[in-house]
Amino acid sequence: MSDLQQASADPGYSVRPLEAPGASGYLPQNERRRRLPFAREYVREPLPEVPMREVLCYECGRSCQIPKAALSAVCPHCFAHLNAVNITVRPGTHHLQVRTLGDVKIPASVELSQLHVVCHNLAVAGCVKGSLRAMGTLTMQGHAEMEGQLSASKLVVLGGAHAKVSPGISVDEAELSGCLTGRLHAKREVRIHTHGKLIGHCKAASLQLAHGAAHEGTWESATS
Ligand SMILES: [Zn+2]
Repeated sequence: MSDLQQASADPGYSVRPLEAPGASGYLPQNERRRRLPFAREYVREPLPEVPMREVLCYECGRSCQIPKAALSAVCPHCFAHLNAVNITVRPGTHHLQVRTLGDVKIPASVELSQLHVVCHNLAVAGCVKGSLRAMGTLTMQGHAEMEGQLSASKLVVLGGAHAKVSPGISVDEAELSGCLTGRLHAKREVRIHTHGKLIGHCKAASLQLAHGAAHEGTWESATS
């Protein structure tokens, strides 16, 4: 008897492949029992639900959902990389291009020209020139001055403010509690509260003046 035959005859040396009983791929009963405790450890807990928020992509303008805590995201429509951090513009900064899904603050000490901002909410107290687009609310306070291509979904001028836009701003709706100088074009309504004042041409679907509010200038219906 050769060595090879001897080795295969000895059950201690025989290596038998693991045989599945059929084509189904089921493991033999004893092998299944052996593996079961390992498998139990890897039973996945259901993932906690991540709070989401809806944003508008600043590249393609379509809405998408991103996690609330995300600092950046990728648009599922145009695959653009979207920044989502909140930014405060510092005086004398060289970063004049600001594009984010977060909020941007421009403090009173800032005086910048050629500033390009696209963001969600924008709060302006300083003096800026350039193109500024807020997809959410634009809040003006103090002696805020803005010049250039300006647009927002909603404009809010806080009480006690002496804000200025030149040549004008186009918004969906506006709410003035302070004074605003400049042309205002609103797709929907403009509300001027008590002590609020608008100096300049106003084109809006409707203009509501509270008692004590003032409008100096012409008004034109947006539907005409
Ligand atoms: Zn997009």
